[in-house]
Amino acid sequence: MSSTVPEYTELLGRATGLVASRVTSVTQPFSGASRAELQRLVDDVDLEASGVGTAEALREVDELFLEHAIWFHDAAYAAHLNCPVALPAVAAEAILAAVNPSVDTYDQSAVGTLMERRLIDWTAARIGFEHGDGVFTSGGTQSNLHALLLAREWTLARHGGARAEVLPRMNILATASSHFSVEKSALILGLGDDAVVSVPDDGEGRMDAAALAASLGAIRAAGRIPMAVVATAGTTDRGVIDPVAAIAEHCDAHGVWLHVDAAYGCGLLVSRRHRNLIAGVERARSVTVDFHKSFFQPVSSSAIIVREPDDLRAAAWHADYLNPLENEEPNQVDKSLQTTRRFDALKLWTTLRALGADRIGEMFDEVIELARVVGDEIAADPELELVGRSQLSTVLFRVRPEGADEQAQDALVAQVRRVLFESGRALVAKTVIDGRPCLKLTLLNPEASVSDIRHVLDLVKDAAAALVDLRDVEVVA
Ligand SMILES: *Cc1c(COP(=O)(O)O)cnc(C)c1O
Repeated sequence: MSSTVPEYTELLGRATGLVASRVTSVTQPFSGASRAELQRLVDDVDLEASGVGTAEALREVDELFLEHAIWFHDAAYAAHLNCPVALPAVAAEAILAAVNPSVDTYDQSAVGTLMERRLIDWTAARIGFEHGDGVFTSGGTQSNLHALLLAREWTLARHGGARAEVLPRMNILATASSHFSVEKSALILGLGDDAVVSVPDDGEGRMDAAALAASLGAIRAAGRIPMAVVATAGTTDRGVIDPVAAIAEHCDAHGVWLHVDAAYGCGLLVSRRHRNLIAGVERARSVTVDFHKSFFQPVSSSAIIVREPDDLRAAAWHADYLNPLENEEPNQVDKSLQTTRRFDALKLWTTLRALGADRIGEMFDEVIELARVVGDEIAADPELELVGRSQLSTVLFRVRPEGADEQAQDALVAQVRRVLFESGRALVAKTVIDGRPCLKLTLLNPEASVSDIRHVLDLVKDAAAALVDLRDVEVVA
C-alpha cells in the first residue's frame, strides 16, 4: 500500500544506519561473547509479549544480532567460504526483499524470470555451453543434489531396467576431497550405502585421471553402473582443481555423466588471469556455480547449469495450479527442485552491471594472489609449516611453537582456533589433511592486505605459544 511508503523509507534508512554505524565501529570480526552469554541474551527475549514497535524491535536486533554478528568484511575474518558482499548486490537484496517476487512461475515474476534466464544463458556461455540451460538454487549443496538427480535419471533411461534393481548398483566417482554434499546426495537419491567410490588423487588432492579410468573399468567389470563422475573445481579445503579435461576424456569414453562442482572455483569463469585453470569445464554435462562464494554475492546465490537443456526435464512435475499446459509461459518451477524461489539473480545482475564481469574476476584474482603471498610467508616462517599449495585462495598450515612435538602441534590446531574465536580478534578454520589436523585460512576479502593476514598469523603464533606455556605450567604443577 502506498500509505506505507514513508514508514518503509524511514525503516530502511534506520536499518542501513544501524549496520553502517556497526561497520564503522567494529574493530574485530566477532565480539567474542561466550555461547552461554549469547544463549542468555536470546532466551531473555519474550517472544510471547505484545509487539514493541518496529523501531524498538530494530534497536533490539542491533544490540543482539549486530553487536554479536560475525563480520565477513573484517580483514581478520579468514575462516570459511563465506565472502564479504559486493554493495550493488546488497542494494539489490533490499529491492527484492521489498518486492518479494517468486521466480517459480512467470506470472509471479514476469521480467524477473527473463532476467534470471538471461543470467543462466550468460553463465552457460562463460562455461562454454552452446545452448546450455539451468536454474538458480539455494547453494552448492542443492546444485550438486540436483545435478546428481539428473545424472541418475539420465543413466537410468540409458540403462533400462527397473529402478529398484538398478539404483543399488549405481556408483558416483569422486575424490576424498570432494564436497560432502556428494555423499549426502547419494543417500537422498536412494543409492546404495557404498555408492560413492573414492578415486585416488595425485597426492595433492587432485583427482588422478588414470586412476579414474581404472576405477571406471573396475566398476564395469564388477557389473555395477557408473552414474556420474564428480570433478571438483576448487576443493573446499585445499582449493585445488581436478584435471577436468582429462577426466572428461574418460567420461566420454565410458558414456558417463560428468558433473563439475565449481561451487568455489566458479569465479575463474570471469578471471582473465586464471580462466585456464578450469579449461575443459565445457565438456561437463552439469556444473555447480556458487555466486555466493567467488562472485561476492550475499547468501544465497547459486546455480546449476546443464549443457543439454532437455536433461532438466527429469525434475519437472505437473501441478494444475502452477503450470497449466495451455500456456507457453516460461515457468522455472519446471526446472527447479524448489517451488517458491527467491529472485537471487537480481543481485548478480546488479553487480555485473555495476562492476562488469572483469572487475569481479579481478577481485577473485586478488584473493588468489593474496593466498600465494601468504603461503610464501608461511613457508619461510620457522614457527609455521605450510601444508600444500592452493590454486585458489585457501592456505593450509600448522603452527609449531618451540617445544611442541608433532602430537602437540596436532592438538594445538583445535585449541588455537578456539582461543581466537573466543577472543573474536581473528577467525580461522581447521580441517584434517592426510590424517593430520591443520589450520585453514579461506581468503575471500579483496580488501584484505598481506599485513592484515600477517596480523592474523601473529595472533595464531601468540595463541599457540601461550597454550604451550600453559601446558608447561600444568605439567610443573
Ligand atoms: C561450498 C561448497 C559446496 C556447498 O555449497 P553451499 O552453497 O554451501 O551449499 C559444494 N561444493 C564445494 C566444492 C564447496 O566448496
